[in-house]
Amino acid sequence: MGLCQRWRRLRLSGLQTCRLHTAAVPAPPQWLAERLGLFEELWTAQVKKLASVAQKEHRTIKISLPGGQRVDAVAWSTTPYQLAQQISSTLADTAVAAQVNGELYDLERPLETDSDLRFLTFSSAEGKAVFWHSSTHVLGAAAEQLLGAVLCRGPSTECGFYHDFFLGKERTVRGSELPALERICQELAAAAQPFRRLEASQDQLRQLFKDNPFKLRLIEEKVTGPTAIVYGCGMLVDLCRGPHLRHTGQIGGLKLLTNSSSLWRSSGAPEPLQRVSGISFPTMEELRAWEEGREEAELRDHRRIGKAEYTRRGFSEVKTPILFSTKLWEVSGHWEHYQEDMFALQPPDSDRLSSSLSDHAPSHPADTLALKPMNCPAHCLMFAHRPRSWRELPLRLADFGALHRAEASGSLGGLTRLRCFQQDDAHIFCAPDQLETEIQGCLDFLRSVYTVLGFSFRLALSTRPSSFLGEPCLWDQAEQVLQRALEEFGEPWELNPGDGAFYGPKASVSLLQIDVHLRDALGRPHQCGTIQLDFQLPLRFDLQYKGQAGAPEHPVVIHRAVLGSVERMLGVLAESCGGKWPLWLSPFQVVVIPVGTEQEEYAREAQRRLQAAGLVCDLDANSGLTLSRRVRRAQLAHYNFQFVVGQKEQSKRTVNIRTRDNCQLGEWDLTEAVQRLLELQNTRVPNAEQVF
Ligand SMILES: [Zn+2]
Ligand SMILES: [Zn+2]
Repeated sequence: MGLCQRWRRLRLSGLQTCRLHTAAVPAPPQWLAERLGLFEELWTAQVKKLASVAQKEHRTIKISLPGGQRVDAVAWSTTPYQLAQQISSTLADTAVAAQVNGELYDLERPLETDSDLRFLTFSSAEGKAVFWHSSTHVLGAAAEQLLGAVLCRGPSTECGFYHDFFLGKERTVRGSELPALERICQELAAAAQPFRRLEASQDQLRQLFKDNPFKLRLIEEKVTGPTAIVYGCGMLVDLCRGPHLRHTGQIGGLKLLTNSSSLWRSSGAPEPLQRVSGISFPTMEELRAWEEGREEAELRDHRRIGKAEYTRRGFSEVKTPILFSTKLWEVSGHWEHYQEDMFALQPPDSDRLSSSLSDHAPSHPADTLALKPMNCPAHCLMFAHRPRSWRELPLRLADFGALHRAEASGSLGGLTRLRCFQQDDAHIFCAPDQLETEIQGCLDFLRSVYTVLGFSFRLALSTRPSSFLGEPCLWDQAEQVLQRALEEFGEPWELNPGDGAFYGPKASVSLLQIDVHLRDALGRPHQCGTIQLDFQLPLRFDLQYKGQAGAPEHPVVIHRAVLGSVERMLGVLAESCGGKWPLWLSPFQVVVIPVGTEQEEYAREAQRRLQAAGLVCDLDANSGLTLSRRVRRAQLAHYNFQFVVGQKEQSKRTVNIRTRDNCQLGEWDLTEAVQRLLELQNTRVPNAEQVF
């Protein structure tokens, strides 16, 4: 470690110091000093050679620039970077590499012939690849210096980069080492060390990498021509085709993310390698926005949100088949009373079936199958598949499974009534003495969801029908339990005596039921959620659990849905907000509109920042339309916010904000605007445009 720390002091001073080191600054290890020395020697020779070629030839070449303009340049001397500076200092600062006649080029690599020149910036996928590829060299250099790593390979990936290196057969990288490694990477970046491209012969390559067996194998396998390219950058020398950034200072923000192991799989025996991955950006600001976006994306992961509310309330999400034998539907009573509304499949022809099977196959008559119109019977099967104890109750099973009902075509309509739909369905199996708490829990769940959606609601309790099944005292008790739960809940409710008899359209099974009528923003009522108390289903399926006293008992089932049909709820919400979705639900949150084509690049950056933060953001750069037309168009499409960027906004890195109601919110710092939108989204306010 002592050696490594001494290296660290060296690394910022770069090559010159290494060669001129004094007693006060200890030398790097012998193999590195040799490698650096040889690189310097070859580099000096190459610089000299290039200068003399340029002078001897003194040839003028024609370069066509991105805008179509053509300029003269000097072969072997003029670099893409110099031409970028002539176009604009912004371009020179933000370009990461050039494309010369379609070939990727370092910005500092002299042009050789007539060329069609393009520039890559971080905004393009190719630009990102160059940027992250350069960053992985910085990581490699840091690993060499801090950990004494023997470098293998370090590619860019779709979102960042990684580096594989060897630390010996036993040693691994620990997560606790990442911060120190990251700090060195940041220092190396801040030191703005240039990437220097050197063409070396096979012999020179073997000499440079004589202490790295992995690179030697790569040279043997991959280098087919007489020469190959190596790059020097600070104290790093690596075999690489390039291109790279001009210097490490272009990396404004860098973060290391993970450590893991990998394997050297090239020729020879496999070797255990260590892999460190990271991500980097041109500015610290962009890195921060990415981090925020990542945290936000993790928080908003739908699997997590869905689970969050269910987990908190003790539900287990389950998935059950959609097709069952009609035997199941006979047990549940659906086949008798609900058959006409179910999609059934006739069994395949039994003759054809047996002839297609071998003679040894047992012949069994195939059952008629039917698509499930409700989840309850499947959940009863789950309850019954093993013995249950009172300790497991209440058992709450939630299921978003697809349900099919053969509705008459005349009754179908939009999202309101469909033949296939999903419910936020759940069944709670509980002991009779748990009913009151469970009902209260259901009511509370309802209220919390409806409040967020901005709905008010009314509750109606339907009591037992005159022709009820079962013991009257049980019903009496249950009705009292429900009434108490409703009283306790504190919202207004009404009583519909004798109305609680139905199980689908064909009434037959007795239920106690709380209907939930919600009112949308226009005051229109919709029946969506429901809570039903069922004594029959557990008896039909003979569901049992071992009671506290040891004797078998029947559970009670609560059927409950908060949203009801998810599709219908979507329709209700869409109509309720008239297409003007609240920000947190909106599929069109922001559109960025550049005033002219000169601002398009900045507009794209703003869009990227918003997207990285997890917001839905589009860009309207259609320069064929006037600004006011585009603003109008965005407002008609109900984008919650329009971010207009002109010359002034670009130079100050701000945005001019309007709402979909054409209210002007004025100029905002881009970072602050993103922050504010996130706040408003996370708190799920219904009127983000007014309270921005
Ligand atoms: Zn490289
Ligand atoms: Zn049910």
